[in-house]
Amino acid sequence: MSKVRVRFAPSPTGGLHLGGVRTVLYNYLFARKHGGDFIVRIEDTDQNRYVDGAEEYIFDCLRWCGIEPDESVQHGGEYGPYRQSERKDSYREYAERLVSQGQAYYAFDTTEELEQMRQKHKTDSNPSPQYDHHIRMRMRNSLTLLPNEVEELLKAGTRHVIRIKMPESETVSFTDMIRGEVSFETSLVDDKVLLKADGMPTYHLAVVVDDHLMKISHAFRGEEWLPSAPVHILLWKYLFGLDKMPKWAHFPLILGPTGKLSKRDGAKYGFPVFAMNWTDPKNGELTEGFREKGFLPEAFLNLLALLGWNDGTEQEIFSKEELVERFSMDRVHSAGAKFDYEKAKWFNHEWIKRSESLAPKVEQLLNDAGIIVNDHIKLENILELVKERCHLLPDFVQQTGFFFQAPQTIDLDAVRPKWNEEKKIFFLDYCDLISGAVEWNATALEETFKKLATEKNIKAGELQLPFRVMLVGGKFGPPVFQIAEILGKEETIKRVSSFTELL
Ligand code: GLU
Repeated sequence: MSKVRVRFAPSPTGGLHLGGVRTVLYNYLFARKHGGDFIVRIEDTDQNRYVDGAEEYIFDCLRWCGIEPDESVQHGGEYGPYRQSERKDSYREYAERLVSQGQAYYAFDTTEELEQMRQKHKTDSNPSPQYDHHIRMRMRNSLTLLPNEVEELLKAGTRHVIRIKMPESETVSFTDMIRGEVSFETSLVDDKVLLKADGMPTYHLAVVVDDHLMKISHAFRGEEWLPSAPVHILLWKYLFGLDKMPKWAHFPLILGPTGKLSKRDGAKYGFPVFAMNWTDPKNGELTEGFREKGFLPEAFLNLLALLGWNDGTEQEIFSKEELVERFSMDRVHSAGAKFDYEKAKWFNHEWIKRSESLAPKVEQLLNDAGIIVNDHIKLENILELVKERCHLLPDFVQQTGFFFQAPQTIDLDAVRPKWNEEKKIFFLDYCDLISGAVEWNATALEETFKKLATEKNIKAGELQLPFRVMLVGGKFGPPVFQIAEILGKEETIKRVSSFTELL
């Protein structure tokens, strides 16, 4: 078998959607598993849809995910250029070859003529008629014009496109690695443009030519590309031979709360759909990313891997290395995979618990919140204590900030209803007791606390909530005596005293 070479072929048209990253991931896992190459090819032939910054953004996302291509615009390689606009001149010869073989034709129709055709042929059941075998013989193209007319038009540099001539009644089929045999009736497919008037190929021509020239062995892409398959199969057959065609797989759609997951779903339900924050340069609109929401890349890859695949066991947590080992295309499902944000957060929580490199990320978040971390060993210890309580990275700001800075706001309302003079005295006495303590640890602090509560005949449970609010500002955080242990004697007493003065 020839070397496995797969490609991710994004069009730089905007942010990178969950589904796009999953396509990257499955390609990457397959390549690594089979000792093959993973190529990123930028499909930028549609200049109208080109968006500034989108290409750079795609590579930044891959970097964040820890997925390194073997060949790309940024990585180089023997099969470059890896940006289709830079390969522009290589496509025409293939389109011309199809014309000379009678499998494609020049079409000279102007925009107005195309519009007239649509108006004339539209019916209630067919509101937007296609340029296909029913219509093509009534249009201005090299099938209807005389050869010398065509030659004249070409010589005069008349604007034209090259269209594929879809067979009138043929069944084309291929074997999808996930879906099995898939067939199409060519009569239902329009004569797609292959080469545009500006000399650029369309996606259909470019994808086939480049998959061939780049020796792609397997082409994996989202299910939304399945309808284009008959055109691509015919192009393979006409240009290079079906035996040369890569093996294909089409990944299942990712479903949101109501059908196909969209950017709008994210905004509506408050979850990210892009890998990283993306600001549309045209209108400044920001779409939130998993990274900024506080996901770890390990968790993001893990949850994506399971959106449409499992290894046949109950295991859900997989490292990238394990995924490489376990991944197989025949376990990718064909049915749509439902995205569940709560489950996504569960994955992140699991990875937060396992992570040993949270400190720099949390420190950055604390800095952004204006909190200075002055003791890194202390931070590491705190992280171990609070990991269990955090699902997203920003949760750490609330869970750790009060260790480094006295709370700016105190939830007095949580304490006030049950607060009384007796409790105030309890805390003043407690401060006295612990100020002389030789041993400063959670166990000793708790013992002293409980003993004093018993002496004073107050329920220790009723005192713990105020103690927590004094130290952290609200009803959250890890066990309260552990908090006091980390805060230290001076700071604990200071926070308790200033609280008792407040109330
Ligand atoms: N350029 C296409 C896209 O934007 C690639 C589809 C394919 O992989 O063939 O998704």
